Amino acid sequence: MKKKLIAGNWKMNGTAASNAALLKALLDQSAGWNCLVAVCVPAVYMAQVQGIVEGTGIALGSQDVSAYESGAYTGEISAAMLKDFGTRYAIVGHSERRQYHGETDAIVATKATRALAAGITPIVCVGETLAERESGRTEEVVKRQLAAVIHANGHCISEIVVAYEPVWAIGTGKTATPEMAQQVHAVLRAQLQAASEHADRVHILYGGSMNAANAEQLLAQPDIDGGLVGGAALKAADFLSIIAAAK
Ligand code: PGA
Repeated sequence: MKKKLIAGNWKMNGTAASNAALLKALLDQSAGWNCLVAVCVPAVYMAQVQGIVEGTGIALGSQDVSAYESGAYTGEISAAMLKDFGTRYAIVGHSERRQYHGETDAIVATKATRALAAGITPIVCVGETLAERESGRTEEVVKRQLAAVIHANGHCISEIVVAYEPVWAIGTGKTATPEMAQQVHAVLRAQLQAASEHADRVHILYGGSMNAANAEQLLAQPDIDGGLVGGAALKAADFLSIIAAAK
């Protein structure tokens, strides 16, 4: 069986000092970890975090990657640049990027391609809004979002990580029940299986108010292979509890 993956998404939080303290508290307890652990940090802290986590049980991730390869794209950060700093994972298509930065399915698919080409594993986020869930469109939406990435990256689709993050559950304290999450994860797994014979290798993470209290039940579901953790990744004790629940 593959090990679960617990990835923290720090979003736009932290300082050099708080990052160092958080990582020290995590690494002090890392001896018995039985899962893969990653932290997806703001780009400006990549070098700092690389220096701290290199050679440890924590892998480095970014929260985004440019859809462009290189050149005159002011403010953008390329996959090659991220790779230069030891980046193992790159979140692509987070709902906050889709919502506030106009990222379409096509842009997200290109970002996944850029990451893969640089040897970085994209963590492809999919998820429905509350209105979409209430109108019975959850499956249609997540399948459309994943289909764009499969279409663009079919030959290496087993190399991606998928994160199911219902938009209404992100940062709201409202978590999908384990059954609700499992139902969507099974749909995503079937879609991956139709595209690749190695689909069982793909980690499908749940994200959206995962915390120390609900992690164990969510992670016990057959198609939930880990978590993408926002708020609870900022406190060492909470993140460590989630890691401990990932057996
Ligand atoms: P949350 O965020 O855990 O704070 O809900 C998860 C995410 O957006 O990745």
